[in-house]
Parts: sequence; structure tokens; C-alpha cells
Amino acid sequence: MSIIDKALTANRNYAKNYDPTLGKRPAPKLAVVTCMDPRLSDLSGILGLPNSDLDVIRTGGPAVTEDVLGELVVSTRVLGTTEILLLNHTGCGFTTFTDAELNTKLSASSGDASPAPMRFFSFKDPEENTLEQIKKVRSHPWIAKDIPVRGFIFDVETGSLREVQQVSQQAAD
Ligand SMILES: [Zn+2]
Repeated sequence: MSIIDKALTANRNYAKNYDPTLGKRPAPKLAVVTCMDPRLSDLSGILGLPNSDLDVIRTGGPAVTEDVLGELVVSTRVLGTTEILLLNHTGCGFTTFTDAELNTKLSASSGDASPAPMRFFSFKDPEENTLEQIKKVRSHPWIAKDIPVRGFIFDVETGSLREVQQVSQQAAD
């Protein structure tokens, strides 16, 4: 049986015990942008907040793309979240290749070089990546200036969060 077929079977039991009040319109408080890596899936545990408080946007890396910026605008302006947390992590798969390398590899292994090179948003240094993300989010004119935007790195070995701060901010502290 495929994994999806197994999941469908499990869902029939899940639905039997489902609490219909969970279907009410959510009112998340915190927007979290994090990687698609499964080690970042227990956000409620990592952050000590109920799932209902979290508006989670996940991409590989994570990458703060134009789409992610749009989601953050909706999250803060429409859904009502009041803070933005950018959550990188150690040991990210997106640090194990460059965009150019992966494009070359995929063209070769598939035997089809016709697609335009894909933007995977690979990176080398999670700290630098986090600083760039903060800058990108902070500079969008539709994300209100009074919304805090803070970046962290989750250590997959220890489970701890470490805040990444711009040098100018550290100097001001
Ligand atoms: Zn990752």
C-alpha cells in the first residue's frame, strides 16, 4: 500500500473523533516562516505555543520569496498576526548544493535541459541567510513597521533557538 493510501485509511479514523470546533475560523497571532524540513514540524513544541496561534509558511531553506512576502502581508493585514518569526536551522539540505550545481545535475540526470534554470534559493550560511530574510521582510512597504520581525536558528542537535541580530541592532543594545 502506498503511503498516501495508508494515510487515507488513517484519516477515516481521525475524522470519526474529529472535534468540529477546530473548523472555526482561526485567529493566529504569530507568523512563522520556516523550512520544509520535517525536524521543524513540531513548531508547537519548539515554540511552546498552541498550533492555533501559529500561521506557518514553509518553503525550502526557508526562502523568503515574493510569494512568501505576499503570505506575510495577508497574515499580518488580513489574518491579524502581530509578529513575524523567521526560523532557519542547522544542517539544512539547501546548504548541500548550489542552484547552479543542482540545475546542471537535473539537466544531466533527466536528459532534458529545456527547462529554464530553477531558483532553489540554496545558501551556505544560515546566519547570513537569516539576516537577508529579515532585511527583505522589513523592507516591504506593506508589512507594517510596528510588526516585529525577528530571525532565529534552530539547532537540530540541541533543540535550542538562537537569535540572529544585525550588527547595528547589537550595537544599539
Ligand atoms: Zn532546511
